[in-house]
Amino acid sequence: MANITPPRYVKQVLITLQSRGYLAYLVGGCVRDMILGVHPQDWDVCTSALPEEVRELFPHTVPTGIRHGTVTVMIHSHSVEVTTFRTDGSYLDHRHPEAVSFVGDLTSDLARRDFTMNAIALPPDGLIADPFGGVEDIEKGIIRCVGEPERRFEEDALRMFRALRFSARFGFAVEEKTLAAIYAKAPLAASVSAERVRDEVEKMLLTSRPQILLTAIEAGLLDRYLVRRKDEPVSELIRITAMPKKALPRWAALCAILERRGWIDSPRDFLTALRLDGRTVRCCSDCCELLHTAPPRTSKEWKKLLNHYGVDTASCAALCYDALIGGKSRDALRAVLKSGECFSVRHLAVTGDDLVELGLRGKELGDMLSFLLDYVMDYPENNRRELLLQLVRGTEEN
Ligand code: ATP
Ligand code: MG
Repeated sequence: MANITPPRYVKQVLITLQSRGYLAYLVGGCVRDMILGVHPQDWDVCTSALPEEVRELFPHTVPTGIRHGTVTVMIHSHSVEVTTFRTDGSYLDHRHPEAVSFVGDLTSDLARRDFTMNAIALPPDGLIADPFGGVEDIEKGIIRCVGEPERRFEEDALRMFRALRFSARFGFAVEEKTLAAIYAKAPLAASVSAERVRDEVEKMLLTSRPQILLTAIEAGLLDRYLVRRKDEPVSELIRITAMPKKALPRWAALCAILERRGWIDSPRDFLTALRLDGRTVRCCSDCCELLHTAPPRTSKEWKKLLNHYGVDTASCAALCYDALIGGKSRDALRAVLKSGECFSVRHLAVTGDDLVELGLRGKELGDMLSFLLDYVMDYPENNRRELLLQLVRGTEEN
């Protein structure tokens, strides 16, 4: 932690609060990241000041989550989330507290947080506050619930996904009781919205350990989205680690693996239920269809695939072929794209209008374009206007 210090604008927020007699600490992910030696993505502050008091102290604020005590303080072009110490009331739907109460002490605020590593606070000067042993758990590489795991997951089922996501992100083990509670309380995952599940799954997919999804599936966290699940190991998930950390190909590979296992019937239905966007749904479902057959072997086969499915799906399929089947599809596709060779009627050296001038219409015109495309896929060097027009004239005469 010694070599990561908060930026000046964050210190300014802490000092301003402190100078008015309020308690103010860095808290949550940023403190955890500093201990891990990772530069935090964002900085959260917790304070004894009430939201209205925070708003009075700083000239530029946004009442982001005012009901939950969160005010975003804007300093120059930066923002810091400042949240009043609070405890959460009873949880009604396994997701949201019925009400929150603002409290004066830090320990109660830390107690409502999910994991010990996320329940550490750091004042601008002075000693770290770590009532639940978060520093030790970080040193040991352990994810542990603050308090009794089953109860914490009953309150908020999203925490089960977060536990596995952090485990994958940091390579930490989920502590035994916390893990057992995930298995025991997995049915409550059904109360988490599809959008939140999608975001969590995507974040897991994009870590260096996407195979954590095996635990998520085995525990039953994704049961709502799977048509069946047998207790068989899905060791193929580890193959996703070989893929670039990009959402589209990793979703496609996940779908292909689940489909091959019979845990989903249709990638389209699976992704639509998880509220993925239309482009991802289309591309992944095309990609899974392609994965039912062997990868293209020649540059012409790649060009046909590019013509039919487009560059996005072809690239996605190439990455999946390499990761799930093996081979060098990505290199082969790259070479085809780099060659600049024509794979679509749009890139032909003649246009539909040229063919109209030569008297072709309707189906005849369409067939001729397909014929020319097929021809230049075989003879890319012949994609020249005069030569193609000559070919059309010659074909018409015969
Ligand atoms: P990341 O680096 O992914 O942002 P983070 O720990 O900062 O990780 P956030 O979602 O930004 O995660 O949440 C900030 C802090 O709020 C957490 O560190 C944790 O203390 C608390 N927190 C967030 N979500 C929950 C939750 N569902 N239950 C309890 N505490 C939570
Ligand atoms: Mg955060």
